[in-house]
Amino acid sequence: MLNKVDILGVEFDYTTQQEILSILQEKIKRNKKAFIVTANPEIVMYANKDPQYMHILQFANHIIADGIGVILGSKIVRKPLPERIAGFDLMVELLSIANQEGLRVFFLGAKEQTLEQMIPKIKRDYPKLVIAGYHHGFFKGQEHKVNEMVKEAKADLVFVALGFPKQEEWIQKNLDSFEKGIFMGIGGSFDILAGTMKRAPAFWRKLNLEWLHRLIQQPSRWKRMLVLPIFVKKMFQYRRKRLR
Ligand code: UDP
Repeated sequence: MLNKVDILGVEFDYTTQQEILSILQEKIKRNKKAFIVTANPEIVMYANKDPQYMHILQFANHIIADGIGVILGSKIVRKPLPERIAGFDLMVELLSIANQEGLRVFFLGAKEQTLEQMIPKIKRDYPKLVIAGYHHGFFKGQEHKVNEMVKEAKADLVFVALGFPKQEEWIQKNLDSFEKGIFMGIGGSFDILAGTMKRAPAFWRKLNLEWLHRLIQQPSRWKRMLVLPIFVKKMFQYRRKRLR
C-alpha cells in the first residue's frame, strides 16, 4: 500500500511515475479493477466546493499529483510528494506497455473528429495494442449504450477523456458494472494525441510552466486558473492549523 498525502482533504499517492506504473501493471496482470484520478489544484479546489465530487474522489484507488501546484502544496504542509506525474505522460507510458503486451484499450471521450484523427495515430504508433473500442464524449441520453460498449469491450485500460468532474463521475457511477480494467480520467489528452492541441515543449515542462503554455493556447481558461492563488493561501492556512 502506498502512503497518502492529504492535500486539502484529497489523498494523493506518495509515488513516483515508475512506481505507480508497476503497481498498475501488476493490477492488469491480475485482472483487477482500478479507478485512477490525475488531480491538479483546480480539481482539489473543486472538490472542496462540491462535497459530492469529494465523495467520488474517495472511491479512487489512486490519486496522482498532476500539477506542480500539488507538489508545491505538499511542500507547504511539509510532506513533499516525490514528483509531479503528468496524466498525459502516465497515459503514454501505459499505451507503450499496452503495445508491448498486446493489451486491450478503450478510448472514451473528446469530440468525434478528435477520435477520427487520434485512432489512426494510435494504430500507427502502437500497432500491437488492441483497440477494444472507442466512443466520443458527448453521449447525453445514450449512457446505457456507452456503458454496454465498454462492458463488452472487456478492456484492460479505459481512458476517459471527458474533462473533470464528468470523467470521475462517469467512472465512479459505472465502475461496478465492469469486470476488470484500469479506468483513468485524462482530461484533454486525446486532443494532444490527435494533434489538435499541442503539449508544452520540454523546456517549458522542465521549468514547470506547462500550465502557462496551456493558458496561452487556450486563453479562455484564465478564469479557471483564478483558483490557484486561493489554493496556495488555503495550503498555508492548513499548515498553520496543523502545526499549531
Ligand atoms: N469533453 C467530452 N465530453 C464533454 C465535455 C468535454 O468528451 O461532455 C472532452 C473535450 O472534448 C476535451 C476534454 O473532454 O477533449 C476536456 O479537456 P480539458 O482540457 O478541458 O480537461 P480538464 O482540464 O477540464 O479535465
